[in-house]
Amino acid sequence: MNITANLQQIKASIPKYVTLVAVSKTKPNTAILEAYQTGHRIFGENKVQELTEKYESLPKDIEWHMIGHLQSNKVKYIAPFVSLIHGVDSFKLLKEINKRAAQNERVINCLLQIHIAEEDTKFGFDEKEVIELIKSEAFQDLKNIKVVGLMGMATFTDNENQIRKEFKSLKKIFDKLSTLYFQLSTLSMGMSGDYQIAIEEGSTMIRVGSSIFGERNYH
Ligand SMILES: *Cc1c(COP(=O)(O)O)cnc(C)c1O
Repeated sequence: MNITANLQQIKASIPKYVTLVAVSKTKPNTAILEAYQTGHRIFGENKVQELTEKYESLPKDIEWHMIGHLQSNKVKYIAPFVSLIHGVDSFKLLKEINKRAAQNERVINCLLQIHIAEEDTKFGFDEKEVIELIKSEAFQDLKNIKVVGLMGMATFTDNENQIRKEFKSLKKIFDKLSTLYFQLSTLSMGMSGDYQIAIEEGSTMIRVGSSIFGERNYH
């Protein structure tokens, strides 16, 4: 795997306004440092313990994104340093992030996860739920979180039309919330297999792992 070449090739092929999150889950620090040496600073992890260990052992100017499902009882471990939490899927979680951010005297940027895939195993709000949340007073009272955008994952399928349709539906919700409530800057959609489609459909942030670091080996 040539991490440097992969990163450079992906960066050259995407528009300047699209932020690349290098998804380093399961990969060793040596792989992350190789990417770091090219000047890349934004990395994504999906497990709290792994994220915390990597934060502690790697350069402090890395921007760490939590991209996986986050349990409320683990927010405290990442609250001191996390720079963006992608998968916020309940008010309860948002409240906990707010509380831990306040304890650390910071404001934590968050993305609300929207359920767009066909599979019902995926986490997230639907359109109606997210509008209700954003309109609620309880949400507006949270001063130590900042919702800067939305995140979604398409169905895991070869059917490009279906993936495109799901990304379109997320972009529509993104535009609607931006117009009706407050300006959102970040639309996190697209992974190794579908980021080109996601960018065509309006993504501003892609989360790419295996196309940079190679296939993951979970054993
Ligand atoms: C693992 C993961 C990715 C990256 O997946 P690749 O297919 O390796 O690019 C992106 N987003 C989330 C939420 C992930 O868990």
